[in-house]
Amino acid sequence: MIISMKAGATKEQVQHVIDQIRKMGYEAHPIYGKERVVIGAIGDERGKARLQALEAAAGVDQVVPILRPFKLSGRELRREATVVRVGEIEIGPQRFVVMAGPCSVESREQILSTARSVKKSGAQILRGGAFKPRTSPYSFQGLEEEGLKLLAEARAETGLKIVTEVMTPEDIPLVSAYTDILQVGARNMQNYALLKRLGQARRPVLLKRSMMGSIQELLMSAEYIISQGNPDVILCERGIRTFETATRNTMDVSAVPLLHELSHLPVIADPSHGTGLRSLIRPMAKASVAAGADGLMIEVHPNPEEAFSDGPQSLLLEEFEALMQDVRRFLPLEGRTL
Ligand code: PEP
Ligand code: MN
Repeated sequence: MIISMKAGATKEQVQHVIDQIRKMGYEAHPIYGKERVVIGAIGDERGKARLQALEAAAGVDQVVPILRPFKLSGRELRREATVVRVGEIEIGPQRFVVMAGPCSVESREQILSTARSVKKSGAQILRGGAFKPRTSPYSFQGLEEEGLKLLAEARAETGLKIVTEVMTPEDIPLVSAYTDILQVGARNMQNYALLKRLGQARRPVLLKRSMMGSIQELLMSAEYIISQGNPDVILCERGIRTFETATRNTMDVSAVPLLHELSHLPVIADPSHGTGLRSLIRPMAKASVAAGADGLMIEVHPNPEEAFSDGPQSLLLEEFEALMQDVRRFLPLEGRTL
């Protein structure tokens, strides 16, 4: 933190601020300029927000952070990229991971046929919601534990790992008993009670950006999870809400390289929710590869017109196969392999 004193601040005011900084456990390094004094406060980054209170002290003009507030998810204090391990799958800068499956788990036949097909096309992780965060309480809410059991059955048969959403802190033990990755949905990105409890969970967390979440807010949400002891966080860009109504969301592809600049955590892209339109998913998947994404999340359904949720943005099985062929062609340009 830099504490900038007002021009004309008295010697006593400067000394008082220095004393306060030391009292809070930080070193104070004053720099005496012609017009004014600025004081650098050096020490443990984590509690530094407390220094902000010095803005109320007499003679202080501004208290300005010099490092970003996301200490554990940011790159400033940890340069090397984090690799999140899910069994033998590595999610990080070398390999490329594809998570595919229906929006919701609907039936044994639906999830098993999708799992077999996406596995054949090259996906490593099966997605499917058993607890669904729906905009309307009258929409299908998910099969809950029965859905989790079906996902586990599909894993046992295909060897695919599973990612599925958890919506409340109370559900974490149940969902953890079945899944390999716990998904935080866009609508829950700032559910801090959920994030804190996920910090104590023993599973990697896929954290989706909310439709109105800034990059900084996403990284602060990751900070909640990591600061509670769980370092295995995967970030996911899934589109944000803008003035544009031609697409369901505006896919912020630039978030991918920006998140990589700001954070050491893996970043995946979800062009299904990012656009909401089937025809845009393949081009945006390629754009995500080019932008440096560490993986993709894609909604796939054997019969989208009968899907309980997100049918219009779900790829047919053969469309997903075509997307994977494109991805395979593009990955070597980025120095990656599936
Ligand atoms: C989903 O993955 O099906 C989902 C509900 O996504 P989001 O939370 O990004 O809307
Ligand atoms: Mn969906």
